[in-house]
Amino acid sequence: MRYSLKFPTLPISSVPTMPLTPSFSVPCPDVESLDAILPEEPLLMMGAGPVPIPAAVAKANTIVINHLGGTMAKVVGQVKTMARYVFQTNSKWVLGVAGPGSAAMEMAISNLAWSGTRVLSIKNGFFSERMAEMGRRVGADVSILDVEDRAVASLETVEAALRRVRPEIVTIVQGETSNTVWNHHLKDIAALAKAAGALVIVDAVCTLSTMPLEMDAWGIDAVITGGQKGLSSIPGVSLVAFSEAAWERVKHREQPNAHWCLDASLAENFWHNAGYHYTAPVSGVLALHEALRLVCAETLEKRFARHLKCSVALQEGITALGLTLYTPQACRLNSVVGIEAPQGLSPGDICGHISRQHQVEISGSFGLPIVRIGQMGEQCREHNLFRTLHALGRTMVDLGVAVDLPAGVAALEKSLSGGARPSVR
Ligand SMILES: *Cc1c(COP(=O)(O)O)cnc(C)c1O
Repeated sequence: MRYSLKFPTLPISSVPTMPLTPSFSVPCPDVESLDAILPEEPLLMMGAGPVPIPAAVAKANTIVINHLGGTMAKVVGQVKTMARYVFQTNSKWVLGVAGPGSAAMEMAISNLAWSGTRVLSIKNGFFSERMAEMGRRVGADVSILDVEDRAVASLETVEAALRRVRPEIVTIVQGETSNTVWNHHLKDIAALAKAAGALVIVDAVCTLSTMPLEMDAWGIDAVITGGQKGLSSIPGVSLVAFSEAAWERVKHREQPNAHWCLDASLAENFWHNAGYHYTAPVSGVLALHEALRLVCAETLEKRFARHLKCSVALQEGITALGLTLYTPQACRLNSVVGIEAPQGLSPGDICGHISRQHQVEISGSFGLPIVRIGQMGEQCREHNLFRTLHALGRTMVDLGVAVDLPAGVAALEKSLSGGARPSVR
């Protein structure tokens, strides 16, 4: 059988004409390919995020599939199931977000707070202040409980603030990445807030899956996380979980959320009803799926133990070099380790040198006189610790700081091998 195609014929005069070689006012730029830009040897990402990703995550991130097909629906279902384990919640209301950890933060805050909502923000530093700022931007009446640098709020101060402010929402960060403070009272603070009738929003961007956080058991109403930190996925696809109580509030608000993309009720279409909200970042969701699957394969218990062991060993190695950790032990975050920049050196000098000379990336911190080394996900591998500690020690030597590099490496090894002296056979 033969087919013949019939095209409608237009009278020639009605075909619009356009010159094929117009003179553009913006000429075509001459740009370099990534091959010419990226370093030959990839940098080891040991800063405060993004962190290295496992091969399975990288591979998933190369795939594009139909965002509304059956495969995607299955992937989304599994992402929610695995995320519930990682958040330790049975709540149905787990959603992904196309955006950074801050977008997940804004999703939690903009859906739960609006004009006049009384919010108490426990401010430990840069990221907890961001939650307060997002609250102010949706018109909430935000009160700040300002906590001194390198300290956590005492339960008495929190109780007093709860009595004074009578908040409908409390925001708090589990690990304040900026100054490397761990809010170790989180569980008790959540209980106090709950007793005072407030919903609790927790920023767990750098801590989720690196240390215990039990959303249901601790009575937390919204937990947010990004991809590129504890989960060792890519940046740009994040997760948020709402409790039943939080979801009730989302569903009964009178004014719609001013953020269309971040409207949780619209996001429910995609994340719970296999429908369309916006085109999901399919590759990133597949990457997140693989990252979560690896967390489940490892189990939270083993993952927490790995993070603790590696971070403590790194801290011992850094101290044995002769450098000083920024945060006192009582509230020291393990997920990101802050190190005081030695006298006369700026964080920029250190980060620049270690990157150029040793291909190891570490971070400064928003004007604080520290450098930060991450201990999140794939960063917590023994070979990465040795390379990073060595690079840090050599950087100090190169920059004229007297450190004891052999002692540092020995302390790292001793800590990793359980403090035992190697047995001689
Ligand atoms: C990194 C981080 C954020 C912000 O995440 P982005 O993905 O950069 O938006 C928020 N809170 C904490 C505790 C973080 O560590």
